[in-house]
Amino acid sequence: MTTLLIAEDTDDLRLVLQRLFTRAGFTVLAAEDGRAALELARRQPPDVVLTDLDMPHLDGLELCQAIRRDPELCDTPVAILSGGIQPGDPRFTEGQVCGVLLKPFSNTELVEAVLHLAETGHHRHHNESSSCPYRLAS
Ligand SMILES: [Zn+2]
Repeated sequence: MTTLLIAEDTDDLRLVLQRLFTRAGFTVLAAEDGRAALELARRQPPDVVLTDLDMPHLDGLELCQAIRRDPELCDTPVAILSGGIQPGDPRFTEGQVCGVLLKPFSNTELVEAVLHLAETGHHRHHNESSSCPYRLAS
């Protein structure tokens, strides 16, 4: 069973995502902000992390950076959900994030993208400036 950690501060969306991925066969861990997500990941390392971009405490990018710096979690695939960025935004193209999923997304696209990351599995992001070798198209 694949464990997916979802970080999303909007309650409705978090519940929708939780239901969607539970139905798709994932074991779902859900957190309401980036800091809670990091604590949860440290207690129960996930196979894939799906995080919102704009959240209190740690935003999606800061969460991804914290995961990359954690020796136990650094190779975990991370995808960011966002409505507010342009494809090709340098903050995402410069490494560490495995994919950006732009809102609005279809449920099918979202599940497929996360399944793809789960199949890819844990992988190295060599340094701060190298991009993910398995980057999802975004
Ligand atoms: Zn990656």
